[in-house]
Amino acid sequence: MARSTTAIIHPEALRHNLGVVRKLAPSSKVMAIVKADGYGHGLERVANALSGADAFGVAALADAERLRAAGMSQPILLLSGFDAPDDLPRMRALNVWSVVHHASQLAMLAQSDGTEALRCWLKVDTGMHRLGFAPEEARDAHARLRQLPNVDPEIGLLQHFASSDEYVDSASRGAQTLSQLKLFDEVTAGLGGERSMANSAAVLGWPQSHGDWVRPGGALYGISVCEGKTGADYGLRPAMTFTTRLISVKKIPAGGRVGYAGTWTAPEDMTIGIAAVGYGDGYPRTAASGTLVKVGDHVVPTVGRVSMDLMTLDLRRFPDAQPGEQVTLWGEDIPVEHVGASAGTIGYEPVCSITRRVRFVED
Ligand SMILES: *Cc1c(COP(=O)(O)O)cnc(C)c1O
Repeated sequence: MARSTTAIIHPEALRHNLGVVRKLAPSSKVMAIVKADGYGHGLERVANALSGADAFGVAALADAERLRAAGMSQPILLLSGFDAPDDLPRMRALNVWSVVHHASQLAMLAQSDGTEALRCWLKVDTGMHRLGFAPEEARDAHARLRQLPNVDPEIGLLQHFASSDEYVDSASRGAQTLSQLKLFDEVTAGLGGERSMANSAAVLGWPQSHGDWVRPGGALYGISVCEGKTGADYGLRPAMTFTTRLISVKKIPAGGRVGYAGTWTAPEDMTIGIAAVGYGDGYPRTAASGTLVKVGDHVVPTVGRVSMDLMTLDLRRFPDAQPGEQVTLWGEDIPVEHVGASAGTIGYEPVCSITRRVRFVED
């Protein structure tokens, strides 16, 4: 049997999730975050499904080029901004907006000649301590940006949350988010221009952060980063179903050890199934024995280590399964958040990790 590992992408789910975001943030424009190849779903495919978004956010200029080649006419924001002088003429030609987060970018802009005004978003580091001007530098940076003749005088203001998945009803009471919100307000007080603060978790749980533009990524793909929650808990639908087939079903004796290093031992004579998927397809090798998958209509646990091309399933609940039976690794009934948690990560990572040998189809 030919290898049948397939990622099925659901444009309808992407559109539905955009609708959920719009309902939650009715006064904000939506910048759909499509970095990392649309969170592994395929950039052009995602952009076409989300063509109702008001803008796109990308991490690489090459992705902006792909979006324009695919016919997208919305604004595109380069989330880390330009990092070399050569980027500037390309961005102007493509009408790409830039984040400006560092003095080195102000210097590059001052030396660039382009006559067309570049639209910039000043990034303030309100406490995540990744990109952005420190609060005490931000107003000065803003003033310098405004003086540059080749910068659009309409300058946006943005910040990024470090822990917006912790809400006011959590143990932390959302203390870090509240502090970031307050600092952003203080630093940007009296400045004109649009504001953007909210990632997905903030769209879902911090309405006071919605501002002029929300920047959801994960929520559009139906994935939650809130501990113990799945996208479905917020009315979101998974945009990807990852499937394969069983290629073997067999009996093993009690005491038989399964897979590399024999980390799992059969407690009784039992049926196991071998599914044609492994970390070579992007299924996490670190997913613990006991991670759930669906075989036909039965939810069953994995056993033993995930190998490069194969993994082993406990079929005691479905001993009549036959080779060829469909296996769902994540999707509607198997939340990718659970697969991520089982591998010590979040649901975003498995979808971003699908490899090139996997076939992508749209339903
Ligand atoms: C990735 C990213 C987002 C989207 O985050 P999600 O958790 O996927 O919603 C928003 N803003 C910035 C700057 C990002 O890098």
